Amino acid sequence: AKETARGTTVVFTADFDQALRRRDLVEQALRQADLGAELTVLMQPLVDVVRNRVVAFEALARWYSPNLGAVPPSEFIAVAEAADLMQPITEVLLAKALAPVRDWPEEIGLSFNLSARDLVSPNLVGRTARIIAESGVAPSRVTFEVTETALIGDFGQAKASLDGLKLVGCRIALDDFGTGFSSLSYVHRLPLDRLKIDRSFTSELETVPVCRDIVGTVVLMSRNLGLACVAEGVESAGQAAVLRALGCETMQGYHFHAPMRIERVPAFLERFAAA
Ligand code: C2E
Ligand code: CA
Ligand code: CA
Ligand code: CA
Repeated sequence: AKETARGTTVVFTADFDQALRRRDLVEQALRQADLGAELTVLMQPLVDVVRNRVVAFEALARWYSPNLGAVPPSEFIAVAEAADLMQPITEVLLAKALAPVRDWPEEIGLSFNLSARDLVSPNLVGRTARIIAESGVAPSRVTFEVTETALIGDFGQAKASLDGLKLVGCRIALDDFGTGFSSLSYVHRLPLDRLKIDRSFTSELETVPVCRDIVGTVVLMSRNLGLACVAEGVESAGQAAVLRALGCETMQGYHFHAPMRIERVPAFLERFAAA
């Protein structure tokens, strides 16, 4: 038993050390990064399957570090948040995401993710308004996506930020809907325009009957509240068909298109219109 206990401790410590070392490496690389050169955004379409049109593209961050290679956003955003490095990253990403939007058809919007740190920054609204103004994109074309977990910290400040972004003319989406602890209380306390049903529900639509019921209920609730509703992570025609039957009209996921490079958007739109 002793042996096992010691063995477990050793393994645990080694994993823990390795995770900490990786975290340090990522933080150092982020501090030294040439953000303008190393950060890019990919674009993934949100498709209205009823009217057969692209509603918006969601900007998804990519970081290529010369030292570490590609580091996924799920990793580097968390490190940036903890190390208080989020503000310049968000500014660079937002400017890059907005750059192509003026050339897109006017009815196509941009969705942009904000982190927990972004939301509690008192100058978020001012900085964001400035970057949007400089881009020449109408604020009404920009939707900011926030997750429930991003709202937990300082709800008052986060809500003030969202109210401010609404005043500027932007729209707000609640991301990963259904995965937090108080989804419903957020729905009526925040100035929301769109709900995004989390991928975990979409992926079990065809196998877990209660998921179907939950999604159907969320779709109805969205409609009653006047919110747009988007299903995330749609990977198959089968899932899209179930969603459609439940009244969900807007979808996003590999079934439609994976996140693509900005330069590929115009050709994608042409092919989409022709299809
Ligand atoms: P998210 O906002 O929920 O974005 C959706 C994630 O699901 C993206 O992962 C996307 O590439 C992936 N995805 C899209 N369709 C499918 C599908 O059909 N199946 C599956 N399995 N996955 C799909 P990604 O790009 O790795 O981003 C992960 C998370 O990182 C995002 O989750 C978001 O929370 C965060 N993130 C990404 N870009 C930014 C950013 O610019 N700023 C901030 N603050 N967070 C970002
Ligand atoms: Ca998102
Ligand atoms: Ca999401
Ligand atoms: Ca997510």
